[in-house]
Amino acid sequence: MATNASNQTSEWKSNDNRHYMHPFTDHKELGEKGGARIITHADGVYIFDSDGNKILDGMAGLWCVNLGYGRGELVDAATAQMRELPYYNSFFQCTHPPAIELSELLSELSPGNFNHVFFTGSGSEANDTQIRLIRRYWDLQGQPDRMTIIARKNAYHGSTLGGASLGGMSAMHQQMMLPVPGIEHIEQPYQFELGADMTPAEFGLQQARLLEKKILEVGVDKVAAFIGEPVQGAGGVIIPPHTYWPEIQRICDEYGILLVADEVITAFGRLGQWFGSTRFGIRPDLISFAKGVTSGYLPLGGTLVGDRVAEVVIARGGEFAHGYTYSGHPAACAVALANLKIMRAEKIVERVKAHTEPYFSKRFRELGDHPIVGEARSIGLVGAIEIVRNKANRERFDKKFKAGMRCRDFCVSNGLVMRAVGDTMIVSPPLIVEDGHIDELVEKAWKCLDLTAGSLASETGTSG
Ligand SMILES: *Cc1c(COP(=O)(O)O)cnc(C)c1O
Repeated sequence: MATNASNQTSEWKSNDNRHYMHPFTDHKELGEKGGARIITHADGVYIFDSDGNKILDGMAGLWCVNLGYGRGELVDAATAQMRELPYYNSFFQCTHPPAIELSELLSELSPGNFNHVFFTGSGSEANDTQIRLIRRYWDLQGQPDRMTIIARKNAYHGSTLGGASLGGMSAMHQQMMLPVPGIEHIEQPYQFELGADMTPAEFGLQQARLLEKKILEVGVDKVAAFIGEPVQGAGGVIIPPHTYWPEIQRICDEYGILLVADEVITAFGRLGQWFGSTRFGIRPDLISFAKGVTSGYLPLGGTLVGDRVAEVVIARGGEFAHGYTYSGHPAACAVALANLKIMRAEKIVERVKAHTEPYFSKRFRELGDHPIVGEARSIGLVGAIEIVRNKANRERFDKKFKAGMRCRDFCVSNGLVMRAVGDTMIVSPPLIVEDGHIDELVEKAWKCLDLTAGSLASETGTSG
């Protein structure tokens, strides 16, 4: 048995290496490390690999498996829908029940001024749709020169050409000659890196006012919109100070530009609210969603279109020349409906707010006491740990030591998925985690930070 399993594993690994090009992966490095870990099944908050290891999924897949693995109701919803109507499009004056019901439910769950939804297959496509909606809106308003969309450095808005252009990941821009024209980036509200000597209130205002500066630089009548994640996810769980979003909102209002909230991570309970915008008091005109809408069981994304844009683009704009074959895919919509209904019936969002977040926050912050941790921060059920060489002055380890990658490798071999963004470790567990899982996450993280500190000390000659 054991031999068969390990033969199967090595065969899979070698075929994986030969044929499967993974997203965001250095395949030479992966090959040298012995190939990829093969995840074969999952249950609740745990994933299992082909060697039989049980691993606590501290990332909810990729920020998406909010209800955890193994929810039969979601499987049943997909199965029933696929038997009834596995596919039909909504292009030629047709529609179908799952897309209708999901649009209605999303309008109900979203903040007050949202009554329309455009479906996509992913978060990247949702943000590409935003670019087109924004430009169409201003064109219909007789202001076609309002073309420029302002985004932020180190933002993540997806990996299509549009999404990667809005995003502020310099490595992606370099490889793909991006951004496309008409997109500008301002500095992010990352206090640990950029504002350690200021109060959070001051730093938040300062970073928000960079938007005003950029609007004036580009020209008031040339700016179309600002886009931001309420909390930057892939950039390293960057939680803006409380003064940041109100000031961004003020500036958008003052100059009349559209405000887009990319809620691909923050929607559907991640921050203890149905939408993260509510938590920060943001009043967006457009919202992107994906990931948690189906708990990742099937791919689905979309754009919630607020009334300001809907009244122009939908009510009097004629045909909006945009759409995807899989816009409103029936099976994906059926799974999203089942997922959101379970969340409502089991009061998942309320539970995150009242119970899980406070417990997670208290336990996660303890990691800040570790000798190589400069800060442990969290909001809702996302958190980040900054690995540093010197706690007092926040000095980092030399990049060549890859402290974050080391820590990540220790974590996964000790039964915890924690992701590394440079030397920032991030977590985003399923929303159904119980206190015992949070204890396990924090204890394993501490142990792996110890292992990381030990291995770095033996190589760099520091005491930690
Ligand atoms: C993941 C993500 C995206 C991209 O979504 P895909 O489904 O991977 O295309 C966009 N924005 C944010 C904030 C994300 O986290």
